[in-house]
Amino acid sequence: MTAAPERRPERPALDIEAIRRDFPILQQQVHGQPLAYLDNAATSQKPAAVIEAVSRYYREDNANIHRAVHTLADRATAAYEGAREKVRRFINAGSSREVVFTRGATEAINLVAASFGQRLREGDEILVSHLEHHANIVPWQQLCERTGATLRVIPMTATGELDLADLDGLINERTRLVSVVHVSNVFGTINPVERIVEAAHAREIPVLLDGAQATPHAPVDVQSLGCDFYVFSGHKMYGPTGIGVLYGREALLETMPPYQTGGDMIRTVSFEGTEFNELPFRFEAGTPNIAGAVGLGAAVDYLEGVGLERIAAREQELLAYGTQALESVEGLSIVGTAPRKAAVLSFVVEDMHPGDMGTILDHQGVAVRTGHHCAMPAMQFLGLPGTTRASLAFYNTFEEVDRLVKALAFAREVLG
Ligand code: PLP
Repeated sequence: MTAAPERRPERPALDIEAIRRDFPILQQQVHGQPLAYLDNAATSQKPAAVIEAVSRYYREDNANIHRAVHTLADRATAAYEGAREKVRRFINAGSSREVVFTRGATEAINLVAASFGQRLREGDEILVSHLEHHANIVPWQQLCERTGATLRVIPMTATGELDLADLDGLINERTRLVSVVHVSNVFGTINPVERIVEAAHAREIPVLLDGAQATPHAPVDVQSLGCDFYVFSGHKMYGPTGIGVLYGREALLETMPPYQTGGDMIRTVSFEGTEFNELPFRFEAGTPNIAGAVGLGAAVDYLEGVGLERIAAREQELLAYGTQALESVEGLSIVGTAPRKAAVLSFVVEDMHPGDMGTILDHQGVAVRTGHHCAMPAMQFLGLPGTTRASLAFYNTFEEVDRLVKALAFAREVLG
């Protein structure tokens, strides 16, 4: 007789009220109304566990790392390297040598552009997409200006998706790097990055994925994605500002020159020359954001405690509800309607300027982002000056979505 298959215990649905109590900032009122914070793609709020980890680090362990032999230095180094190991596990990198701490996704991309970019020559090409945040456009544009390389662009569609029809034509023998966004901050589109990685790797071209909007919302596994670089920011995934991560495949990082130089990234220095440190320290010159790394480690613990699968499921429910609710608003069009989306709702309302709308919503206690969302080329393609964007996190509620809809109706009355 065969044994019955073992059942994995199901994790119960999230207790949203309990989760909201973990975030002290959500307990306040704004303009006399309970705060409905719907600007999570810009930055997410921090659970008490993260705030306390940073505070405890400064109260109990603060010292410089990797240098002194005293007890506090030991503890600070262990906390910083412990955070690196948590991040490694979180993204399933093969080794902590592949996890470089940066100030954020922007600095991580600039690091690759400055270091990997040194191998570019006139006639070479870098391929980005029309959906990119400025952080994944400008560093490459500047690199092209310095080297005579050309920036090429994967086109987008009116639904806010990548148009991959000519992908194999865009990736060619001149391409040196493909750098694309995993999840769009404007539309929420989850891009088919596996397909892009496969097409680039068929020509042995490395791929950078901008995961700033991916890591807070669903499990990310850099080994199964197969990318060569992956970048993200701590502050968008419930961690502190000023800390982020560059994941780089070890064999590739080994071939790259340092980004910045100074203390900690060296092994020996004399006036005749300098021998650089091993990975990942070679890319972390100077005293890093130790407290930020500790806070990011606590954010990873928090996210894993709640469970990324449950977070993703909860946010998909909010997205479905929010999409339906917004579609009922007269004159409103959702911008970005890809079938695979994170919980980002960008929209325009007839005869209403997003900036005015943002101010009126704020007076109703509803925080959204308005404008071009640091993605001017995507806005230009759609012929829009900007949109209003509600970006949801698992701690948001259906009632908050209702309040957004009510506040929009009120804004129509005022502006209409
Ligand atoms: N990439 C994407 C898709 C983003 O949404 C952002 C920020 O909004 C960035 C990069 C830049 O992140 P940071 O400002 O944290 O460096």
